[in-house]
Amino acid sequence: WTEGSVTDAENSLTELAALAETAGSQVLEGLIQRRSRPDPATYVGRGKVDELDSVVESTGADTVICDGELSPSQLRNLEQRTKVKVIDRTALILDIFAQHAKSKEGKAQVELAQLEYLLPRLRGWGEALSRQSGGSGRGGGAGGGVGLRGPGETKLETDRRRIRMRISRLRREIKAMRTVRHTMRAGRAKNLVPAVAIAGYTNAGKSSLLNRLTGAGVLVEDALFATLDPTTRRAETGDGRIYTLADTVGFVRHLPHQIVEAFRSTLEEVADADLVVHVVDGADPDPEGQVRAVREVLAEVGADKLPELLVVNKIDAADEETLLRLKRAWPEAVFVSARRGTGIEELRATIETRLPRPAVEVRATVP
Ligand code: GDP
Repeated sequence: WTEGSVTDAENSLTELAALAETAGSQVLEGLIQRRSRPDPATYVGRGKVDELDSVVESTGADTVICDGELSPSQLRNLEQRTKVKVIDRTALILDIFAQHAKSKEGKAQVELAQLEYLLPRLRGWGEALSRQSGGSGRGGGAGGGVGLRGPGETKLETDRRRIRMRISRLRREIKAMRTVRHTMRAGRAKNLVPAVAIAGYTNAGKSSLLNRLTGAGVLVEDALFATLDPTTRRAETGDGRIYTLADTVGFVRHLPHQIVEAFRSTLEEVADADLVVHVVDGADPDPEGQVRAVREVLAEVGADKLPELLVVNKIDAADEETLLRLKRAWPEAVFVSARRGTGIEELRATIETRLPRPAVEVRATVP
C-alpha cells in the first residue's frame, strides 16, 4: 500500500525488487495498492488480498515481500491467506546484511538485529499442547538434556527464553568488542595510511568501481591489508603514496532504524576514512533522492563532516537531460561509467588530489 503518489510507490517497489534480487530471489510480479493507511489486519485491503492470492497461485511464487514493516499479526494473517512465506522490507534488508557481514562484530550485530526482529514474531504451533521436555542449556536443542525448564512451560516459551538469553549474550559480546575497537582507534592518532571509503546506494556500482580502480594493475591487493576487511584494497598514487580503498555495505532508502543501530559499527569505519567517495547511480529515476538518503545515514554515524567526492556512475545508461541537470547541481562531481571505463582516470586523479598530504613520506615510515 502507499499513501504517497503511485510514482513514489513504483520507485520504492523497483528498489524492493532490486533488493530481493540482491538477496537471491527471482521477482515475478509487483502489486501496488493506494490507501490512506495499511489495513490493520492484513496490511493490504481485503480485495487486494484476494488478488495477491490469485497472483501467488498463477505465478507459483513461494514468497510475498511487502514494501513496509508488517506487524506480527499482519504477517500471520497474510501467510494464512496466501499459504506462502510472507516477509517485509526489514526482514529482506536483514537478510542482505546477514549475507554481507564480514567482521565478527558485524556478524554479531546482524544476528542481534535478526533475533530482536524475530522475537515478537515467534509463534509455536499447538502452543499450549506441545509441553514437551528438552534441555535449554548451551547449544541445547537436539536430544534434550536435563530439564531446566519449569513444569508446564511450553515449547514457545522455551524458545523465547533461549532467544532472550542469546540476545543478552550478544549485547555483552558486542559491548566488549566495541570497547576493544574504540581503544584501538584511540591509540591510532590518525590514519597512517590515508583511507578512502566508497559509500553509496545499494546497486549504485560501488564494487564495479572498486574493481575498476584496483583492477588496472596500478592498484593491487597487498598481504599487508589481507587481515582487514576483504573488500579493503591497497592503492598507490602516481607519486608513490599509499592509500586504502574500501567498499562499504550499500545504503537503502527508509533503512529500518534498528538496522542503522545494528550497523553502526560497520558504518563507523566510514567515519574513520579521510575521504568518502560517494557513488550515485546516474541512471536511477531519482539520483538526488539517493544522495539525500545516503547523506542522512552518513550523518547518523558521524561521517557527514568528512570530505566527500561525489561520483555519478552509469553515465552510459543515463539520459542527457538528467546528466545536464546533475552537472548543474553538482559541478564538483566526477562523471563515470564503471562498466565502460569512462572517466576512471579522471576519478583516480581527483581522488589523489583530495587525499590528505602526510606530514612525513609514508613510505619512509613503514619499514
Ligand atoms: P553496488 O551494489 O553498489 O556494489 O553495485 P554493483 O557494482 O554490484 O553494480 C550494480 C549493478 O549495476 C550491476 O548489475 C552492474 O553491472 C551495474 N553497473 C555498475 N556500473 C555500471 C555502469 O557504469 N553502467 C551500467 N549501465 N551499469 C553499471
